[in-house]
Amino acid sequence: MSTISNPTAPTTPASVDRVIQLIASGESSGESCSPELSKGPWEFDAGPTAYGPGSSMGDVIPAGSPRQGALPAEYKTASDEELDARVRAAKATLGDRVLVLGHFYQRDEVVAHADYIGDSFQLAGAAKSKPDAEAIVFCGVHFMAETADLLSTPEQAVILPNLAAGCSMADMADIDSVTECWEALEELYGTEPDADGRVPVIPVTYMNSSAALKGFCGERGGIVCTSSNAETVLEWAFERGQRVLFFPDQHLGRNTAKAMGVPLDRMPMWNPRKPLGGSSEAELHDAQVILWHGFCSVHKRFTVDQIEQARVSHPGVRVIVHPECPMPVVDAADEYGSTDYITKAIAAAPAGSTFAIGTEINLVQRLAAQYPQHTIFCLDPVVCPCSTMYRIHPGYLAWVLESLVAGEVVNQISVSADVAVPARLALERMLAAKPPANGGGTAPAATAVPAGA
Ligand code: SF4
Repeated sequence: MSTISNPTAPTTPASVDRVIQLIASGESSGESCSPELSKGPWEFDAGPTAYGPGSSMGDVIPAGSPRQGALPAEYKTASDEELDARVRAAKATLGDRVLVLGHFYQRDEVVAHADYIGDSFQLAGAAKSKPDAEAIVFCGVHFMAETADLLSTPEQAVILPNLAAGCSMADMADIDSVTECWEALEELYGTEPDADGRVPVIPVTYMNSSAALKGFCGERGGIVCTSSNAETVLEWAFERGQRVLFFPDQHLGRNTAKAMGVPLDRMPMWNPRKPLGGSSEAELHDAQVILWHGFCSVHKRFTVDQIEQARVSHPGVRVIVHPECPMPVVDAADEYGSTDYITKAIAAAPAGSTFAIGTEINLVQRLAAQYPQHTIFCLDPVVCPCSTMYRIHPGYLAWVLESLVAGEVVNQISVSADVAVPARLALERMLAAKPPANGGGTAPAATAVPAGA
C-alpha cells in the first residue's frame, strides 16, 4: 500500500484553496484560471448551465443532472475554523457509523477529515471493506459515489456532500448517445462473431462514467477500466472482440492503445453530434478502437510547451503526466501513469529529485508538502483545480455530517437495481481480467490509504 498523505495533519499553508484566496485578494501574484473560484460554491448551486469557474467552465451540464438544493445559511457564513470544529465534532459523535472518503483531487480542507484517500476505485474498495459503517460520505464527484453505492452493502447510504459535484468528462457520454452509437455500429458490423469467436465490437467504459454506462457494458459483454489497468482491460477486450468502443475519455483510450501498438489510423473518433460519429463506413470497418469524443477539462490543459518550459527551468526534471492528457503531452513526458503510479514514483525517488507533474493540482500540492526532500511542481503554472470536485466545500461536509447526527440522510446517491446488476457484472469482469505478461506504461491498481498510513 502506498503512502499518499496523512489526512490527520493540519492543512498546509500551501493548500490550493488558500492559494486561490490569496490570488483573488491580490496578496499573491500567482494566477488562477478564474476569479470565480474564490467564491463559495453555493453561488453556483442555484441553477448553473455550465460547470462553474475554472477548467470545466466551457462544458455544458446535461439536462437532468442532479442539482444541489440550498445549503443552510449557517454553513455558508461559518468561518473555516468553525466548520473544521463542527466536522470533527460530528465525526466524533458518529464514530464508526460513518466513513468519510476523500479523492486525491479533493481540496485539503476536506481531505483533512477523510478516513481514506485514494482514487475512485480504491475508495469504492474502502467503502466495501467497512460494511458496518451506516453512511459513506464520498468527497469526490457523482460517478464515484455511484460506484461506491454499487460496491457497498444495500444497508449503507452513500452520500455526496454537494450534488452539483459532477464530472464533466463522465457527462460527455450519456446513455442515450452511447446507445445510438451502439445501434449504428451493430447495423454496420452485424452481430455475428468471426471465425475466432470474436464479436464485432466490445464496449469498454472508463471508471469515470455513469453507472448507467457501466450497466450498458455489463449487458453487452463489455467491461470497465481504470487508468491503472486500461491496457489489461483492452487486452481482455481484444481477445473477445474484433474492435473496442471506448468511452468517454478519448485520451486514455488513444494513449493506451497506442502503447499497445494500435496504429492511430485505426482509432477513429466517435463524435455523438455527427452522423456515424464523423467517420466513414470504411474507417469504422477498419477500426480497432473507436474513441468517444470525451476528455477531462483539467488534464487537457497540459501542453508540450509546458513540458519544454519545465525542462529549461529545471534541467534534469522528471516529467510524469496522467494518461488523460492529450497524446502529444504523454509522448513528450518521461513517464505517464495513474495517480497511483505518480504517487509511487515520487515515494520511490531518491531525495533531491525534481518532478514536474501533469495532473490535478490538489494532488500535486499535497505531494509537494508530503515530500519536502523533492522539488515537485505542477506543469500548469495557472492554479486550476477540478472545479466540480472543488464544490465539496467544508460547509457541505459539515451539513451532511450534522444531518446524520440528527438522524437525517441528505444527498443520498442510489443506483437502481436494474442498472446496478449489469454494472457490477462489468466491474467484476474488470477485477477478473489478468494483466499482460509484459506489463504496461501504467502501474497496477492499489488500495486506498487509511488516515495516518
Ligand atoms: S479531474 Fe477531470 S475526470 Fe476527474 S473528476 Fe474532474 S473533470 Fe472528471
